[in-house]
Amino acid sequence: MTCPYCNNPAELVGGERLYPHREDLHNRLFWFCAPCDAYIGARKDGGSMGSMANFETREARIRARSAMESLGMRRNEAMRAILLEMRWPEVPISRMSAEDCAEFILAVKRIKG
Ligand SMILES: [Zn+2]
Repeated sequence: MTCPYCNNPAELVGGERLYPHREDLHNRLFWFCAPCDAYIGARKDGGSMGSMANFETREARIRARSAMESLGMRRNEAMRAILLEMRWPEVPISRMSAEDCAEFILAVKRIKG
């Protein structure tokens, strides 16, 4: 995996590297770029669970998820309604940039009126 911020190769690390105090995450894998502090969860086969995210993007994705949950709909229904409002193709939050998340949150606000 290539880091989207610096274009250098990311390293596959164990959860203890990113979350030293979260023993429940120690046996998980992550693609990690130390200079950019960017990471994303990885599967055992090295497949990624989204696109790598730096601090700003991780925070933006957390805000996007909580905005989606604030609609009080089932997760996939809420996602469908928001993407329809945005006129976007199906894209998971785990692949969104910080800018995407900002637009996503605006769409939630429009839905709520
Ligand atoms: Zn990087």
